[in-house]
Amino acid sequence: MKDNRIYNFNAGPAALPIDVLQEAQNSFLNFKGSGMSITEISHRSKWFDEIMNDAVIRAKRLLNLDEKFHVIFIQGGASLQFCMIPMNFLATGKPADYINTGTWSSKAIKEAQIQGKLIQVAASSEDKGFSYIPKDFPLNKDSAYVHITSNNTIKGTQWAEFPETNGVPLVADMSSDFMSRPFDAQPFGLIYAGSQKNIGPAGVCMAIIREDMLDLIPDNIPTILSYKTFVSKNSMFNTPPCFTIYIVQLVLKWVEETIGGLEKMDQINRKKAKLLYDLIDSSDFYRGTAEPDSRSLMNVTFRLPSENLEKIFIQAALENDLGGLKGHRSVGGCRASIYNATSLSAVEALCDFMKTFEKNNG
Ligand SMILES: *Cc1c(COP(=O)(O)O)cnc(C)c1O
Repeated sequence: MKDNRIYNFNAGPAALPIDVLQEAQNSFLNFKGSGMSITEISHRSKWFDEIMNDAVIRAKRLLNLDEKFHVIFIQGGASLQFCMIPMNFLATGKPADYINTGTWSSKAIKEAQIQGKLIQVAASSEDKGFSYIPKDFPLNKDSAYVHITSNNTIKGTQWAEFPETNGVPLVADMSSDFMSRPFDAQPFGLIYAGSQKNIGPAGVCMAIIREDMLDLIPDNIPTILSYKTFVSKNSMFNTPPCFTIYIVQLVLKWVEETIGGLEKMDQINRKKAKLLYDLIDSSDFYRGTAEPDSRSLMNVTFRLPSENLEKIFIQAALENDLGGLKGHRSVGGCRASIYNATSLSAVEALCDFMKTFEKNNG
């Protein structure tokens, strides 16, 4: 690997495209002839205006969004969204449905309950340790929204198709698979994604809000917690995290121009995931933890025959320049996060290592 860099399988913050890192490095001290670093320019300058507008335009183009949708940037990570969503959309007394597919869904549910909002857990996969995505569940027709987590970063499951809600707006935490595949945005009232999984460094959450959702938002909530503020101020009510948004803009440009859009991105991601799942399925040594029809294309979770072997595996992988393979601390085991910026050759190197490790330890 170049510059002593390793193959990075971190779950988040995670790998970024090398082209993006290099472009940021090259313009770090003097951004576009401004004589200033991107970390030194004003967020009210024409330079930052261009970054913000380009990021928004690219996000809209990549996802085929029409003028009904607003793209905004909010600090506080995906976690702040867990509390902003019920605060903004449940003031009218309408209830909401939540689908519980793991840790992040559970946290979203908790933040609505803390505020005393009327919510129903319409389906859950907790009965089998969140190893699958629920199918065929009844939804409340009167809900303000149905909340889902599109990809469950910790358990390694993902919605292959989104649930049919018969007109009730979907609200989705897409933190760990945003911009990894194309999808129809029309049924979504709100989409949000913390930047540090698939679109940039930590520090911002990209949100896409559909115009009609703005009508649900009351005036008596704090200004900085209202989506209306972010929409009306083009995400610059206060100082945004300029550097993070700059990298997000470069990543979106990379997806658009270097990869060639989300269809292409999806093809590459499927190829990467298939290599790993095929290896796991053909082995008695590695065991996948997610049910096959619910498997994530972004986070491949697996176990070895013993916890001791897992420890040795993770250490030996690192000695072979393969980093970040430890499972989330709450579940243990192993996890290869193969987001957009993790290359096919990184996954091939991991597969080679896994085969050799099995031969020597199986
Ligand atoms: C990482 C993650 C979060 C938490 O994101 P923060 O930006 O740290 O708040 C929430 N949801 C999902 C699906 C995640 O993967």
